[in-house]
Amino acid sequence: MALPDRHLFLSKRLVTDSGVSDGGVLVDERGTIEQIVTREQADKIVADSDGKIKVVDGGELALLAGVVDSHVHVNEPGRTAWEGFRTATSAAAAGGITTIVDMPLNSIPPTTTLENLKIKASAAEGNVFVDVGFWGGVIVGNEDSLRNLVKAGVVGFKCFLCPSGVDEFPNVGPEDLEKAFAALEGTGSVLAFHAELEDDVPPSRKKIKKKDPEEYQTYLESRPSKMELNAVSLIKDFVDKTERPTQRHELRIISGNVRVHIVHVSSSEVVPLLVDARKTRLAKGHEAWRAGVTAETCHHYLTFSADQIPKGRSEYKCAPPIRDKNNKEKLWEYLLEDKLDLVVSDHSPCTPDLKCSNNLEAWGGISSVQFGLSLFWTAASTRGLDLTSISKYMSSGPAQLCGLQNRKGALRPGLDADLIFFDPEATFTVTTEIIRHKNKLTPYIGKELKGVVKETYLRGRLIYKDGEVVEKPQGKLLLNDI
Ligand SMILES: [Zn+2]
Repeated sequence: MALPDRHLFLSKRLVTDSGVSDGGVLVDERGTIEQIVTREQADKIVADSDGKIKVVDGGELALLAGVVDSHVHVNEPGRTAWEGFRTATSAAAAGGITTIVDMPLNSIPPTTTLENLKIKASAAEGNVFVDVGFWGGVIVGNEDSLRNLVKAGVVGFKCFLCPSGVDEFPNVGPEDLEKAFAALEGTGSVLAFHAELEDDVPPSRKKIKKKDPEEYQTYLESRPSKMELNAVSLIKDFVDKTERPTQRHELRIISGNVRVHIVHVSSSEVVPLLVDARKTRLAKGHEAWRAGVTAETCHHYLTFSADQIPKGRSEYKCAPPIRDKNNKEKLWEYLLEDKLDLVVSDHSPCTPDLKCSNNLEAWGGISSVQFGLSLFWTAASTRGLDLTSISKYMSSGPAQLCGLQNRKGALRPGLDADLIFFDPEATFTVTTEIIRHKNKLTPYIGKELKGVVKETYLRGRLIYKDGEVVEKPQGKLLLNDI
């Protein structure tokens, strides 16, 4: 839907790739960014426009690109009681997120075939307040479906190396991976890994069972760092095989142009391995973003440490688990060194009955999509980061991962005018009343956060202002015609 006018969004703190400045974003009637302008240029455009350009002046409020959250579990259809498209995207709009990318599992059916993608898309159509992209899934035996899903426009594929927690999304092993890489060869798509892999001799289940299951430490011991290391080692082997100029035909099927991404890195110990894998590809002249080896971490790993988690409070439970304070500090260090590439929510809610006080039995997943931006800023601003860090790690990083960089994730001519006015100095407290996602249980209740989203615009159109989301969903599904 076209806008009635061209718009000029102004701010004394305009955040672009080149820094923070006084200026504006000129938006055409299609809702596309036409030009980034200085204050002087903006004044001239307004003076010459005969009042035909609508000016939206945010004053001292920072003007940023909308956030892209590339890791959200919407769960509709099939587990709509856990979360749905309307509630998840309304929460996103309130949190300054203009694009979410839905994970392929926890909905029924999972997004593992074209048919299943169509079912999901029809549940989402007309019900999304922000734009929505989709991940496909790689499970045992669906390699023949992958190319059709690429054609339909999925941003990439997610797979598990350990049980996913739901029966309809079985984890894969090395043989399945070879098939998946072969099927995706030449597509430039990305394979994202839930990177936890059990040892042949897993942590003694008997020993763990004897411990108090309400203690968070008991759960933490059941999923040690070693599981993440095992998984990333396996993935690195695949990346290395890709690059070795080998005569062995069977290894050549694994294509170098399939990108590899690690979702929700919790253990800082895996990062050096990832850096090595990336170096191998860079040495071979890969030019793709980050050499096609990328990794994300999540707000909860950057916010909490295991020692802070009260007994019996499984709203903190997620997989991989939140680890100790040193680990958290190390994750920040790696993020600031650009060894981790993006920060996402991994919003993964469920109904309250599944969040029992037994940390071994409760559903693993943390709800936070609405608060991601403020969570990040609360911590980042105390670590000397400026507003450009938000755009880098939460907008352009995820957009690059999802191949949306020519459409989303930055304030640049030609991109969708997805914008937010953000008050970086204001604070607010997370309460049940302000939460827009379906189930209100979250470990952030009662927390004071820094940074308030005042207004959110999707393709130049206002979708959220001061606590209110516009009535009619105006988001698009980021798919090709299917
Ligand atoms: Zn997830």
